[in-house]
Amino acid sequence: MLSCYEETTLRYDPDLCSGCEMCVTVCPHGVFAFDGHRARLVKPKACMECGACQLNCPSEAITVEAGVGCAQAHINAILTGKKPTCGCDSGDCNC
Ligand code: SF4
Ligand code: SF4
Repeated sequence: MLSCYEETTLRYDPDLCSGCEMCVTVCPHGVFAFDGHRARLVKPKACMECGACQLNCPSEAITVEAGVGCAQAHINAILTGKKPTCGCDSGDCNC
């Protein structure tokens, strides 16, 4: 079963997970947890679309469009000196 979240581009297919725990280790926002067999999405709304989980997943169980959303908003804010905003207007994002 594919897990999708409208708030971000993060997609996770637990059927492909081999249980290596890399996503749990590298995610800076604790989006994934390990249930003893495979990864579980526990805080999907906390994803800032940095791309680290996809880069480190050996099973191609995760896809995310890095370079959009909150992570990119923070980079843009640093570059422009302005307040970070990803434009989602949800009020509970990570900007
Ligand atoms: S893209 Fe980054 S913040 Fe989102 S789940 Fe993956 S590692 Fe965590
Ligand atoms: S990095 Fe990929 S294979 Fe490893 S636990 Fe996470 S989803 Fe599963």
